[in-house]
Parts: sequence; structure tokens; C-alpha cells
Amino acid sequence: MDLQPSFSFELFPPRTPEGVAKLPAAISQLASVGPNYFSVTHGACGSDQDGTYDTLLTVVEHTGVDVAPHLTCVGSTRANVARTLQRYQEAGVKRIVALRGDLPDNARTPFAPGEFRYASDLVTFIRQTCGDTFKIEVAAYPETHPEAGCPDVDFDNFRRKVEAGADGALTQLFYNADAYFDFMERCEKAGIDIPIVPGIMPITSFEKTLRFCTSCGADLPRWVRLRLEHLQNDRTALLEFGLSVVTRLCETLLRNGAPGLHFYTINHAEPTLRLWNSLALTVPA
Ligand code: FAD
Repeated sequence: MDLQPSFSFELFPPRTPEGVAKLPAAISQLASVGPNYFSVTHGACGSDQDGTYDTLLTVVEHTGVDVAPHLTCVGSTRANVARTLQRYQEAGVKRIVALRGDLPDNARTPFAPGEFRYASDLVTFIRQTCGDTFKIEVAAYPETHPEAGCPDVDFDNFRRKVEAGADGALTQLFYNADAYFDFMERCEKAGIDIPIVPGIMPITSFEKTLRFCTSCGADLPRWVRLRLEHLQNDRTALLEFGLSVVTRLCETLLRNGAPGLHFYTINHAEPTLRLWNSLALTVPA
């Protein structure tokens, strides 16, 4: 197993001409600190597929850094996924983040439409069709996936993805380090030893942080929520407080064995780089 910590930056395909224009500068700034790879999100139900590919090409064009496209399977067919995998293979992609994707709002059943039901089916399909061509990352939920009724069942479902052939996992964002450590203990007991890299979202706004946490079921500790609410009209103070909270979280995670950090950049270099500098990370050569 890789003993060097892995640091990665997540991007999304910009949806406006302004976002497209700003992306190369953000990518170059982020690449300057030497991440192991960038990842690029992919809209569920096949949306944004070209956006993911175009963003991937932008990273390739502006940096020499590896790119891992996310691949969602909800609403997709085996033939479509096979075509996408072929395209990635031809582009020299070596790593994929394999996901189910969020169910459409109008979904009538709790099951994913299309030919894949769960991310574990997608991992199995990638292994069957592409062997070991790609390193496969999957999603992990230290605080339990919001659709799952029971943490134990959700953990069993995570294990299915590992058994299907995942090489590593990236977690949902969280601000409670104990949730991650508890998840790691459960993995150890279950004999799961793939690297599980915490997903880190810098704090830059009270409203956005609250919204992100609500949408993915992450616990925003009461004291953090109250402080952010109190500071919401003082941007400088809020940024400083948010930075100290997330720096402490990252330091605690790394000091206690986290195998790296995956930063949700939302295509903004500055908050992630401020955090990076505050951590004074020693980047692997
Ligand atoms: P799964 O692992 O399939 O799990 C989904 C639900 O089904 C869980 O509740 C699980 O417990 C349950 N389940 C799984 N297997 C079974 C089974 N065999 N029987 C019964 N129940 C089962 N979304 C996007 O649309 N695009 C992205 O690019 C994207 N990137 C992400 C990156 C990261 C690091 C993370 C953490 C999430 C990302 N998401 C993305 C969000 C993700 O798609 C959603 O959280 C989605 O609802 C679940 O995807 P999954 O791959 O975890 O699904």
C-alpha cells in the first residue's frame, strides 16, 4: 500500500461561460502545490458527460497532473458506460471515481433507473470490462448515506463496493473527526484495508456550509454553526474562523492516520490554498 499521503483536488465542469473562462487559472494555481491528482465530477443521469471530459482536457492542457473523472451510473446503460470508459482509456486516464449518483428528484422508487442499481454494480462492470486499467475510487459515508435507514446496512453496502474491486475511497465531507475514526475502526474490524481519504470542504460562508451539510447529511457541530451564524456579516472574521476549524480537522485526521486529503474546491483555488498553506503540507515528490 502507498505510504505517502495522497492529496487531491475536486473540480466540477463549469456551467457558465464565465466559469469556463476562470477555470484554467484556478487549475494552474492548484496544480502549483503538486497534488497527486485532480478529480472532476459528473452529473447524474448522464448529464455533464461532455463537461467532465472537457474539464479533464483543461487539466491535461494546463498541468501534468493526473485526472480522475467521476463516473455516475444512475440512469445509464452498460453500452453507454462502456463507451465512456473507452473514451477515458484513449485519453490516458488511469483512475476513476465510480458512483451511483443522486437519484432524480422525480424517482418513483428507491432504486436507480437504468441498467445499474448501485455503485457496486458499476465497480463490478468496470473490473469485468477493463480489468486493472483503472484505479477505482468509491464514495464512503462516515456519517451514513442519507438514503440508508441503518448505519450497519450502509456499511455492508460500502463493503460490497470494496469486494467488487475498489482500490480506495473518498469520503463525503464531514466536520466531525470522530465520525471518520469510527468508520475506520469499523473498516479495520471488517478487514477492509483500502485507503479511505477524508473529503474536506473549506468553510467560506455560513449559508453555503449549512446547505452543503444539510444536503449530504453531514453534522455541522452546534458550536461551529453558532459561531458561523454570528460571524456571517463579517467576512474576514468568518474566513479566519472557518480556516482554523478546518485546519484543526485536517491536522487531527492526518496525525491520526488518514492516508491523505481530498479537497472539494468548488473550482475556487483560494480557499483550498489558504488551507493548504495553513497546514504547511509536505507534498510527496
Ligand atoms: P451507492 O454506493 O450505490 O449507495 C447508494 C445508496 O444505496 C446507499 O444508501 C447505500 O447504502 C445503498 N445501497 C448500496 N448498495 C446496496 C444494495 N446492494 N442493496 C441495498 N442498498 C444498497 N454525485 C454525482 O452525481 N456526481 C459526482 O461526480 C459525485 N461525486 C461524488 C464524490 C464523492 C467523493 C462523494 C462522497 C459523493 C459524490 N457524489 C456525486 C454524490 C453521490 O453520487 C451520492 O451520494 C449518491 O446518492 C450515492 O452514490 P454512491 O456511489 O455512494 O452510491
